[in-house]
Amino acid sequence: MSTEAQRECSKCSGPLDTSGYPLWCGACRKTYKKEYESTRETLNAARGFRQGVEGTKTVLAGEFEQFGHSSFTGQEIGQIIRNAPGPSFDADAPAKD
Ligand SMILES: [Zn+2]
Repeated sequence: MSTEAQRECSKCSGPLDTSGYPLWCGACRKTYKKEYESTRETLNAARGFRQGVEGTKTVLAGEFEQFGHSSFTGQEIGQIIRNAPGPSFDADAPAKD
């Protein structure tokens, strides 16, 4: 079927919305947009989480590396981790997916 002759949504056979692309009906476009935004939000949250984890690892490694070959008790390690600064947010950091 050519696109000029198409009068039905290619997803649900509903009435075609000819105001844009892809050639779907308004309901299918709305559903797609909602799912796309939801997926994008989830991916952005996951990216931020991964960056936070990597930043935290870097900060904590730095906290322990400054002590060289010292030995610690579990309580001391817990206290060092709790007192360590959090990672800083870098809005210009390249996104790693
Ligand atoms: Zn449709």
